[in-house]
Amino acid sequence: MEKIPIVQDYTPPFAQDGKFYVRLTEGRFQNLRRLTSWPMIALFFGLAWVQVDGQPWLLFSFAQRRIILFSNALSWHDLPLLAGLMIAGACLLFFMAVAWGRVWCGFACPQSIWTWLFIRIEDFTEGRASQRARDESQPLRGERLLRRITKHLLWIGLATITALTFTGYFIPIRQILADASQLQLSAALSGWIIIMAGLTYANAGLVREKICLHACPYSRFQSVMFDSDTRSVSYDKHRGEPRAHLRNAAANSGDCVDCGLCVQACPTGIDIRDGLQAACIDCAACIDACDNVMEQLNRPKGLIRFASESQLEGNHSPLIRSRLAGYGIMMIAACSAVLYGFTDTTKLLVEIRRDRGALFIQLDQHTVCNNYRIKVEGFTSGQDQIAISLANPTQFALFGPTTIDLADSNSTWLPYRVCARNLAQPRAELTFNFQGKAGTASKATTFLTKSI
Ligand code: SF4
Ligand code: SF4
Repeated sequence: MEKIPIVQDYTPPFAQDGKFYVRLTEGRFQNLRRLTSWPMIALFFGLAWVQVDGQPWLLFSFAQRRIILFSNALSWHDLPLLAGLMIAGACLLFFMAVAWGRVWCGFACPQSIWTWLFIRIEDFTEGRASQRARDESQPLRGERLLRRITKHLLWIGLATITALTFTGYFIPIRQILADASQLQLSAALSGWIIIMAGLTYANAGLVREKICLHACPYSRFQSVMFDSDTRSVSYDKHRGEPRAHLRNAAANSGDCVDCGLCVQACPTGIDIRDGLQAACIDCAACIDACDNVMEQLNRPKGLIRFASESQLEGNHSPLIRSRLAGYGIMMIAACSAVLYGFTDTTKLLVEIRRDRGALFIQLDQHTVCNNYRIKVEGFTSGQDQIAISLANPTQFALFGPTTIDLADSNSTWLPYRVCARNLAQPRAELTFNFQGKAGTASKATTFLTKSI
């Protein structure tokens, strides 16, 4: 456990040109963050590799115009399902914001998780926050230069792996690595990976809390969701004030010994004792820091804690409220709609185009033919054969493959000819039927016997 600094320059912690050094702190909320962040990190890096029957388990493929979600292939026509998932996710965020403020930011947001990872690398290579602050006035050479270079190399490595993995959700990751190993990555893909790696490096390594403070839209609208019953990280000024260093403590001093550890632990560099602030991401690092101090002083923990304004004023503060219930109901409704939508996704997608060269072909005095091109896409796992027929075979005759293999025909236009004898009307409706394991579909088009 850390010793309590009696006097510490902390506002902002070790400030030099606005720069501050985040002090890593252990405690129950840090353990909770490990419980939320490590599974998320493992899922992010792991899911891109998961395959079922040789197919990716999760893939957003622009090239194949399909999304593979938990091994289910969805067409772009099913994109509203993803919109539904996003609405459900937004409702979950609103729900959490009303109940516990920005806990999403502090415990689950990728920006925060990657920032903590980068800070840990910094701590490992350049030493703890206090040492880094002290070293800042020293010339950058020798061992210090080596440590700085190692830090940046590790940051670049992690940023590159992150960018590769992220790209692996759009292009199969094995394919990317195979192409990269043979130096056959396209310029566009290489550029994309470099940009993604650069953004990760800049966000988590260099810019860090400024993204949360100035660029994150969630931080802008979450403030309107707060009310006096929202439990966010708060300093109990009734208990802590008047603050005094241990050696200056008087009989009427509060429990805050003004050690500054809560400020040094803060990744956004604020002092929670100044009150609720938009820059606070509810990461609870200051709670862990202060609880450790209170434990050493044999005082009750919780001088900084998750508490609502009402609770801090000693009033009852209900957790379940109408607004919270409203967001909960919206979230359940959105999830139900998405689940229902998954039962009726597109299985067969058919496109029919008339041949633009000739509207019709007069074979003889009685027989007229029209040419078409047909593309069939299937959205099921495994192989499938699709039988193609006409709805009115007595009137029309079909020429072209009547059975197609979906694995071969996806994204391929196949030529067809339909002929009719003694058709009196200048145009007639022609319906193609498609049937396979994937499902059935019908598509109507026009059959012309005369120029229009
Ligand atoms: S609130 Fe706690 S950690 Fe912060 S200065 Fe006071 S005693 Fe130290
Ligand atoms: S004030 Fe506390 S909870 Fe808020 S960002 Fe800083 S350390 Fe995290």
